[in-house]
Amino acid sequence: MKEIILIKNGELALKGQNRSNFEDILIKNIRRRLKSLGKLNIRKAQSTIYLEPAEDDYDFEEALQRVSLIFGIAGFSRACVCEKSMEDILSKAEIYLKSTMENIKTFKVEAKRADKNFPLTSPEICREMGGKILSYFPHLKVDVHNPDIVVYVEIRDFAAYIRAEQLHGAGGLPVGTAGTASILISGGIDSPVAAWTMAKRGLRLNAIHFASPPYTSARAEMKVKTLLSKVARYSGTINLAIVPFTEIQDQIAEHCPEDYFTLIMRRMMMRISEKIARDSGSLALITGESLGQVASQTLPALVSTDSVVNIPVLRPLIGMDKEEIISISRNIDTFETSILPYEDCCTVFTPKHPKTRPTLELCENAEKGLDIDNLIEKAISETVYTYID
Ligand code: ATP
Ligand code: MG
Repeated sequence: MKEIILIKNGELALKGQNRSNFEDILIKNIRRRLKSLGKLNIRKAQSTIYLEPAEDDYDFEEALQRVSLIFGIAGFSRACVCEKSMEDILSKAEIYLKSTMENIKTFKVEAKRADKNFPLTSPEICREMGGKILSYFPHLKVDVHNPDIVVYVEIRDFAAYIRAEQLHGAGGLPVGTAGTASILISGGIDSPVAAWTMAKRGLRLNAIHFASPPYTSARAEMKVKTLLSKVARYSGTINLAIVPFTEIQDQIAEHCPEDYFTLIMRRMMMRISEKIARDSGSLALITGESLGQVASQTLPALVSTDSVVNIPVLRPLIGMDKEEIISISRNIDTFETSILPYEDCCTVFTPKHPKTRPTLELCENAEKGLDIDNLIEKAISETVYTYID
């Protein structure tokens, strides 16, 4: 029995004239994400996207799993392909619906007849299908108001379909419809969640990671790549810039007052990130900061980090509790990786008494001993680029 995946686009329906453009990007994303599974025909008709495997040994379950992670898909379902005759539809229904129907008590049938040449009207299709289902599965009852399951019969131009279960999609908007932004990614819990949250709103992601070997190890860098590959299951390919940060940290440790270490480090990261972001076509930075979570995330501290850049800084977690962030990170399967104990460049130089209420003037004074322009230029020239998918 031949199965296909039907995709209905939630929020896309709101986009009026842009709709077709959004759908084209979504289809491109789907094609890219399912490419390695084999040949697939993709068709778009009447606000539905049809994914039809063109090979017998196609891994359909894996395709369903991947589709469930693609942003811009509110709901989708698997469906059985039938000839456009009631005879074929009814006989396939018995086999196709068996496992679903065994576990429920009530159902109703809805029919959609897009092909008006089909000899039966929609109510007639419902009646015939409903009667047959009751005879196939005698434990069932019809409940038109609150059924456990709705069985849909769709008569389209090119075929007829039976489907029963609506599956939840990842929601959001297709990646790429909102432009590109750069996530500052650490090995922690928050930044992968921030990356996922913004990709969900349609942003394509670039990533920037600051590494401080030998203070931070190769394993710490691997951890960041693993986290990004988990985010990439949703966002698609992520370009990653790995910036050497050791010299800057050493210089800060040598020339700046200790209670400003973290703040100055963050300011340096932002300055470098702005340049890398602009060079790679990003229109904004994204960070995993959450108001008040640590000393460098108080409002005065955020003001002081923002003040060194001239690019929007998106902080999708700003109003979230740690518990909420952890809950998302478990859902997107980054949590277990994030809590691996490898050192991060920020933890290596954590001051005993970090400044929580810095003023811009104090920050500027504190970093006077640094040759900021040279440090930035050198770090950027030694940045290594790779990609994660
Ligand atoms: P996270 O869990 O994302 O590490 P955090 O709560 O530990 O966040 P900080 O360490 O203060 O907070 O970092 C704040 C933000 O700065 C991070 O969310 C991330 O966006 C960015 N950041 C921190 N360290 C790095 C790094 N080594 N490379 C790139 N970005 C970083
Ligand atoms: Mg961190």
